[in-house]
Amino acid sequence: MHKKNVLVTGSSRGIGRACALAFAGAGYHVFINCRSSIEKLESLEQEILDAGGSCTKLPGDVGDPDAVRSLFRKITAACGGLDVLVNNAGIAHFGLLSDMTDEEWRTVMDTNLSAAFYCCREAIPYMVSKKRGKIINISSMWGTSGASCEAAYSASKAGLDGLTRALAKELAPSNIQVNAVAPGVIDTEMNGRLDPDERAALEEEIPAGRFGTAEETARLVLMLSEAPSYLTGQVIGMDGGFL
Ligand code: NDP
Repeated sequence: MHKKNVLVTGSSRGIGRACALAFAGAGYHVFINCRSSIEKLESLEQEILDAGGSCTKLPGDVGDPDAVRSLFRKITAACGGLDVLVNNAGIAHFGLLSDMTDEEWRTVMDTNLSAAFYCCREAIPYMVSKKRGKIINISSMWGTSGASCEAAYSASKAGLDGLTRALAKELAPSNIQVNAVAPGVIDTEMNGRLDPDERAALEEEIPAGRFGTAEETARLVLMLSEAPSYLTGQVIGMDGGFL
């Protein structure tokens, strides 16, 4: 039987890593990626192989269109193209908007929004030729509601939500579904800057009383990759009741 292929961008740690493990466990061949944590990518590769799964390391900056083109040349050579694309790579930026430099703004937009465009552009032609495919974007609840001192991050994720809804309409006639997951606060290194008091205060604000885990986010992503084809264009909140 044809082994399905998935690319999870930003999979050296956190939500992306959990997604890569979930897809590998479900029998997918997983293309794993990150920009700089190559050792962590190697250890993920080992973990997948040890568990009897299969994967290929594809390091590269997904915010750089040339790097994405080169990454997809390797995917095409290996298997023709992707069944599932998970646009997960992302970075946070905390601070007043008025203090933000042009470079900082561009880096947030390149990584959180343009990267999804670059990857979708490369992934779509193969999916169209097969008349099937799933694209899952990892957004954020801040894309829906906006967060103080995270204006650029919130704008990038709101952009990703818009891309999700519009692209879903564009690709529905080709039987390609595009959905997004909008997590709340997930327990990953992205929230490592919080001290214990800040963490406790934030947990109190979350109706579920705790941070989410990368693994439960990955479960939802895997579910979306197997969801009925009539589910498309949705931004699905997963925030313990926060919003
Ligand atoms: P982490 O910081 O733990 O992991 C981010 C991953 O993205 C790393 O593997 C990192 O690898 C990779 N990455 C960053 N920039 C690039 C790039 N330019 N090219 C390729 N890979 C890159 O974050 P999380 O796991 O927490 O977040 C994953 C996604 O979930 C992000 O899009 C984030 O915005 C979103 N999210 C997270 C929430 C949370 O509370 N944690 C809440 C809502 C949404 P490396 O640095 O080695 O390149």
